[in-house]
Order: sequence, then C-alpha cells, then structure tokens
Amino acid sequence: MTPRLGSAQDTGPDVTTPEGGGSAAPPSGGGSRPVELAELMATVPLGMAIIDRELRFVEVSDAMAAMHGVSREAHLGQPMVEVLRAEPSAADVVRRVRRVLETGVALEGVEIIHRESGAHGERTRVYRASYHPVRRDGAIVAACIYVEDMTERRRVEAQRDAGAARERSVREQALRETQEAVRARDEFLSVAAHELRTPLTSLRLHLQLLLRQVGGSNQEPPAELAPRARVLDRQLSRLVGLVNTLLDVSRLAAGRLSLEPRELDLAQMVRQMAEAFSEEFNRAGSTLSLHVDGPLLGEWDSLRLEQVLVNLLSNAVKYGGGQPVEVSLASEGPTAVLAVKDQGIGISEDGMARLFGKFERAVSERHYGGLGLGLYITRQIVEAMGGSITVRSAQGKGSTFILRLPTRPPVPTKAAAGAR
Ligand code: ADP
Repeated sequence: MTPRLGSAQDTGPDVTTPEGGGSAAPPSGGGSRPVELAELMATVPLGMAIIDRELRFVEVSDAMAAMHGVSREAHLGQPMVEVLRAEPSAADVVRRVRRVLETGVALEGVEIIHRESGAHGERTRVYRASYHPVRRDGAIVAACIYVEDMTERRRVEAQRDAGAARERSVREQALRETQEAVRARDEFLSVAAHELRTPLTSLRLHLQLLLRQVGGSNQEPPAELAPRARVLDRQLSRLVGLVNTLLDVSRLAAGRLSLEPRELDLAQMVRQMAEAFSEEFNRAGSTLSLHVDGPLLGEWDSLRLEQVLVNLLSNAVKYGGGQPVEVSLASEGPTAVLAVKDQGIGISEDGMARLFGKFERAVSERHYGGLGLGLYITRQIVEAMGGSITVRSAQGKGSTFILRLPTRPPVPTKAAAGAR
C-alpha cells in the first residue's frame, strides 16, 4: 500500500511526491526512483508515525512499531486507541495528537517514562516525543509523531554525572584535608614560636649578666672572651629574628598584624639602616651607595618599616653576589618611592611569580639559607600600609625591589582592617 495523507483510505497525494500521484513516479526498480515513504519508514532509526484526523495510523516506522510491540502492518489504517491498547501512556499520546490536530501548534520534547517489568525485574525506558502538525494547502491534515529512545543516552549521562560527582567529592575532600593541614601547620608555628621565645629571652639575659659578672667593675667582657661573646650575641640575635619571623607569620595567618603609625623621617631611617648594615655589606664584599635627599616625612609604623628595610637590605647582601648595591629614596607627590638595586644572582621568571608567597624561595637551600618568609611578611606589611612592592629582575642580572608607600596611612576599609 502506498501511504497517503488525510486518512489511510483516502486517495490524497503521496507524501513522497510533491506533485501528488505516487504512481506518476519514474519507473520502479531504478536507482532514480524517489524513495517511498514505506522504504524510509522501514529504515529510519527513529520512532515515527503519521496520524490522520480520524486518529488512525497512516504510516509508522519499523522502529516505532517495535516500541509498540505490534507489526507495522498491524498499525496501518487502525485507530490509535486500538493499537496502543496495552500502552500505559496511550491516553496521553492520543490527547496530544488531538491537541496538535486541533490547534496546529507543535509539542516538542515531551518526556515519557516507561516502567517495564520483565524476567529480570523492572526496567525503566525513557523516550522523548515531539508532535507536529502536517499541513496541506494551509489545512491540518495529519499529525506526525517522532519518538527517540533516550534510555541509553540517559544511562551514559547518569554515569557521567555520577563520575563527576564522585570526582568533585574527592576534590572537595582533598581541599578540606589540605586546608586542615595548613591550619595545623599555622597553629604549630604559632605555638612553637611562642615556646621558643621564652627560653631565648632568658638565655640572652643570662649571657649578658654572665659577661658583666666576669667583666668585673667595668662591666665589659674580658678581652679574651669578647670575640666569643660577640659571636654568641650575634647568633642569639639571629635566633630571636627567626623566631620573630615565625611569630609574624602566625600573626598574619590569624589576621593579627597591628600597625601603629606615627610621624617619622624615612630619609633618616634609611640612612641609619645603611649605617647599621655597613659591616654586613663589607663582609660580603659589596659597596652600598645611597641616593637619599633630606627629610621625607610621613606617618608609618617605625618598627614595621624597619623590618621591611632590614629584609630588603639583608636580601641585597645575601643575593647581591658581592657586587655594588644602590638604595634610592624619592617622593612622588603623596608617595615615598624606595628602590633597592643589586647586581647579584637575579631571579628567574618563574621565581618572580612566587617570590612574595609564604615559604616561597627561588634558590636552593643548599646554597642560600632562609625560610622564604621575609618577602611574604614584607608584602603584607607594605600592603597593610596602603603601599605596594614590586620587583624587576632577570636571572644573573641583579634585582631591583621597588617600594611605594603613601606618606599618610590609608583610611581603613573593611578588607584592610581584616588584614591587620
Ligand atoms: P629567604 O631569603 O629567607 O629565602 P625571602 O622571602 O626574603 O626569603 O625571599 C624569597 C626568595 O626571593 C629568596 O629565597 C630568593 O630566591 C629570592 N630573592 C629575594 N631577594 C632577592 C634578591 N635581591 N636577588 C635575588 N633573589 C632574591
């Protein structure tokens, strides 16, 4: 039977031949003969059906017939309600077809879930159906149903979603563990630093008392002990410095770095620092030149600012390769600009990206000692002061650290207050 639109028995035009008259098609058997609807329906891997206005099947694809468990022939010309008698969703399907025939409005993506019970228990199948009106000369003559079996695709999607959810949960667990490890480390640092400080303070005090006692009336250590006393004092100062660094890190982690700004002359501070460092520069074989013009007044926390200068100068000594170091200070409007320039080992591009992070170092521990905390603390202090620190460097070509500090403390914002 050549399927026709209208009704199964109708003598309307063949849907495969736009001119009408399926029999007017070129001679059968040749490769040039137009594909007949029946041939298409036998091969299309999609549930497809054409329903006429009397709600009878005009055509149905083999795939759709298989879904209904009834042969294609048993559909043709038969009322939907009869063919779909055993289908749980039959009433809904008929209702939708009727609506499309009456309104001419297509229905897309209707999801149908079938629960089929078989020998292996209950199986769920998911279908997606679309209903479209078929028009001839503007009049709706039929409805076309397309049904896609989504079961396999949904199963793959569900598996993928479950896999993604598992991966997400593993990642979240790893993140929680890392955060907990970092918190435990910070807590350990804080406790260790506090515990180390007490015996160190006592040790320093007792060393001074001891040296005074053996020094007799002039309270100076005897000449034969003086060099050793100086070494002891220097090493103790280093230890105190390291412990203070650890304390700063734990303060920063807890958001407890406080600043007490007061009026001071930064030019004078830079000169004093250069003086204090002269011996260290000498020992390293470097010369230090200053380009600092007289007073540069501003309001800063002097101890914290000293800490920043100490860090930059000791790095210039440590990494300056015994070459000359220059420190310059100038004001640019309301900003003090300090530059510390060395001609030492320089920093790789990768190193520069990490430099200001906690425990980050761009050199090996075997060659240069250090905790990798100086620049981290420096940046936190400078930013809490409303300033910035940047670096220009290239490996083997020296480094210039540039500090820009507003001469007046910033108006505390919520974020900045939290950083203190
Ligand atoms: P530390 O010196 O204890 O390692 P810092 O935080 O002060 O820690 O410095 C971090 C890293 O930055 C150093 O390990 C070093 O690799 C690099 N660095 C700092 N200053 C300089 C400099 N002037 N020249 C070359 N590298 C530097």
